[in-house]
Amino acid sequence: MDGLMMAFPLTLPHLFQRAADYYPEVEIVSRRPDKSLHRTNYAEFHGRAQQLANALKRLGLKPGERVATLAWNHSRHLEAYFAIPLAEGVFHTLNPRLSPTDLSYIMNDAEDVMLLVDDVLLPVWEKLKADVKVRQVVVWAHGQDLPEGTLDYEQLIAAEPASYEIPAIDENQAAGLCYTSGTTGRPKGVLYSHRALVLHSMVSALPDVLGASFTDVVMPVVPMFHVNAWGLPFTCTMIGAKQVFPGPHLDAVSLLDLMAGEGVTKTAGVPTIWLSLLDALDKAPPGTWDLSKLNEIISGGAAAPPSMIERFERDHGLHVVQAWGMTEMTPLGTVSRIKPSLAGLPAEEKLALRATQGLPVPLVEVRVESLEGPAPWDGKAMGELMVRGPFIASAYFKNPAEATKFTEDGWFRTGDIVTTSPEGYVRITDRSKDLIKSGGEWISSVDLENALIGHPAVAEAAVVAVPHPKWDERPVACVVLRPGASATPDELRAFLAPKFAKFWLPDAYLFLEAIPRTATGKFMKMALRKQLKDFRWSGNE
Ligand code: ADP
Repeated sequence: MDGLMMAFPLTLPHLFQRAADYYPEVEIVSRRPDKSLHRTNYAEFHGRAQQLANALKRLGLKPGERVATLAWNHSRHLEAYFAIPLAEGVFHTLNPRLSPTDLSYIMNDAEDVMLLVDDVLLPVWEKLKADVKVRQVVVWAHGQDLPEGTLDYEQLIAAEPASYEIPAIDENQAAGLCYTSGTTGRPKGVLYSHRALVLHSMVSALPDVLGASFTDVVMPVVPMFHVNAWGLPFTCTMIGAKQVFPGPHLDAVSLLDLMAGEGVTKTAGVPTIWLSLLDALDKAPPGTWDLSKLNEIISGGAAAPPSMIERFERDHGLHVVQAWGMTEMTPLGTVSRIKPSLAGLPAEEKLALRATQGLPVPLVEVRVESLEGPAPWDGKAMGELMVRGPFIASAYFKNPAEATKFTEDGWFRTGDIVTTSPEGYVRITDRSKDLIKSGGEWISSVDLENALIGHPAVAEAAVVAVPHPKWDERPVACVVLRPGASATPDELRAFLAPKFAKFWLPDAYLFLEAIPRTATGKFMKMALRKQLKDFRWSGNE
């Protein structure tokens, strides 16, 4: 027997309307390229997004067509997040840090018909425009003259009425598109439905997930082109939280100024950003920034080193919460918070648990497959993490070749190798292609990196597998030292020795100026492995 509930579609217009009806006065603050602050609110945003929806229709946008955005985090980007789906289009966020070759590949693959671009990112567009066909280019400008053939956003929307008749939208209709950054191969498109974005917003706001409320002031440092800033702009609009956008200014001091100035309570970003903040806080005289309102720093996208979590807490009274996710998951998968039943654990064990990726969020199911079958929850057995749920991709956009990422019984293979603690906490030990296979055993590069970064002289560390004649592969540590600091391979080895089995210890330490990074700020281990492929073992390892 069917239940007797309304077939109410889970679509973005509901979130959009709610913010304007109940929280019209709540602010959305953005930092402009010249560093000044732009202030708007949900009432104004609501009108402007409808003007944009009208403009998109007038420019000829047809249902299902993709509209690309090449932009930093700001309120005009937020208008596009809602206006494009309101106009039945699909917003497609582009990462300006990608190479022109990747960007033109992605735009052509997506068949983008229009582009909305920041004035400060026009140089990026200049480099690829010859290889891409779009009907219109609209510039998010600041009053200056624009290149020929482009439209000024403000002029475009000023000509439109601020009310737009929202069509009936099926909840399974596509609303957004984002390409994985391609750490592992060619970029692949993930196509988000309205339903997935709404359910993800609901889940992410829950107290034990990201715990966002209308009392919060949220600053997504994670770019809006990286899995929709982890969905936070949608979550915040749904609940009417104040949003603070850093624009193009992602250096530590700018972020700290903005957090203190706007009373940010919650922020989210990758560990690289948080490490730079930690450095700035360490160097500045105490009290330089009043961060007393900042309840939580959400860290995701790459493993948060336990020493970073500890230093924030101990030296600055700031609480870091680790989350794990993927572009394919909209992106939230797990969040690490201590369950009440574990509240009595000694501080050190609690820190270790918080440094895991945590418990799966509601509506995300996980299973871990080792070579011998399902991996037990013993904190030791490693296996590949698979996931399923209503905001997880079921296929890639136009890419049947990648079907092997999806199992026949309906799970998505994450490519992450994990262990599970007896209490269910998932810990990522590696990406499957970064695991080091030595003498038939697996060595986790992430564990070694996390430990190395705890050494006071180490600024960055990446451990990679190097082919070895006897052991198949052995770990080699690539280390970037802090400015003015020094450490020898022997010192680093002695530092790691008490923490790991002997065969885990890297056989060599290379000191580099910088570790190559992907466009999303992750270590580009493929490049390091390439660099090291002719590495010569001295023969006595
Ligand atoms: P890409 O796959 O292009 O790197 P994603 O943002 O989808 O882009 O990256 C998802 C991957 O990032 C995960 O599969 C995982 O390997 C890694 N990752 C994300 N969050 C964490 C985390 N908190 N700890 C460790 N690894 C993480």
